Amino acid sequence: MNQQLLLQEALSYGRPFTRYGKPAGYIPELAKIDPNRLGVAICSLEDGSIITAGECDAYFTMQSIAKVMSLILAIEHNGFEYVFTKVGMEPTGDAFNSMVRLDQLTDNKPFNPMINAGAIAVASCIRGSCLAERQQACVDFARLLTGNPEVDIDFSVFRSEKATGYKNRAIINLMKSNGIIDGEVEEHLDLYFSICSISANCKDLSYFAAVLANNGVDPRSGRELVPLRVVKLVRSLMVTCGMYDYSGEFAATVGMPSKSGVGGGIISAPIGKCGIGVYGPALDVKGNSVGGLKVLEYLSDKMGLNMF
Ligand code: GLU
Repeated sequence: MNQQLLLQEALSYGRPFTRYGKPAGYIPELAKIDPNRLGVAICSLEDGSIITAGECDAYFTMQSIAKVMSLILAIEHNGFEYVFTKVGMEPTGDAFNSMVRLDQLTDNKPFNPMINAGAIAVASCIRGSCLAERQQACVDFARLLTGNPEVDIDFSVFRSEKATGYKNRAIINLMKSNGIIDGEVEEHLDLYFSICSISANCKDLSYFAAVLANNGVDPRSGRELVPLRVVKLVRSLMVTCGMYDYSGEFAATVGMPSKSGVGGGIISAPIGKCGIGVYGPALDVKGNSVGGLKVLEYLSDKMGLNMF
């Protein structure tokens, strides 16, 4: 079947489900977004061309999806071994912002880079002489991986997160007292909020997913953007930890390396097949886009994308 038609069908399948969710309320700026939005984009690994259906030009904050980018950048800055002295690789089964087990570990390391604690520890490894330089490094990297020079930090969401991020502040302070964080907590936390507030659209997500599905190679230029060893690690963490505490069921039913964010976006990177970006700000209780999950379920089934 024609892919354009397939995307329209996937959207029609997912749309009715948006009414069962609502935008993330704990970040005031996100609570204002229209919950009925839904879009999907697929990027080809052959030439980087993108086909879309629905809401694909609207910009929204990547939130946890950007944790994948910051992990890659932190590894680029420090090497693999150093970064994994700060964070582990195990799924938690807990909510993304949970801190219940953070103080019960023998090595004090947060479980994995896809949950808030792990991503904050990873952000603390991103180098630069000041906050502005570190923010710029993250934005430049996000532009490279999405192929879109317009990608930038949404400072209204950044301020909203910073003003209300009590839990993340508690998490970084706990990790500081446990010896995981070097340097000043406030600057690292600001960098973490900036990374979460990087704003992109559905097409950009599909492009980033295509780079991951294409073993780190930019589908347009043919240039290697991420080393294969790092891509393999990132994709495996997306499978085990990318969809919050729904990761197990998602792997079992949909079967694609994916990462979602509370802004309503999800990236899926079926290896060697294509890159998929979806956007639907109505979230379920675990933090995943309700409509987005259904769209991915549909596409995985109809396009035979389940890796298992
Ligand atoms: N900025 C969000 C937070 O720290 C990211 C959460 C997410 O997308 O999972 O709570």
